Amino acid sequence: MASQAPETDKMVEPCANCGRETPHTVTVELWTESAGGENASFSREPYRVAECQICGEEFVQRMSNA
Ligand SMILES: [Zn+2]
Repeated sequence: MASQAPETDKMVEPCANCGRETPHTVTVELWTESAGGENASFSREPYRVAECQICGEEFVQRMSNA
């Protein structure tokens, strides 16, 4: 967890688990994905990871709309 230093931010967002707005730690990470199948191509997709600071729930959202 210490190997990378992604951008971090504190955001107040609604948490479905808590049922209210809670502070979240938001990180943007590039995850390498295997496309799988015939083409052995890899793509790095930016994901937005928001972790609720109350319940610890993580919400992962793909940022690109490929
Ligand atoms: Zn929560």
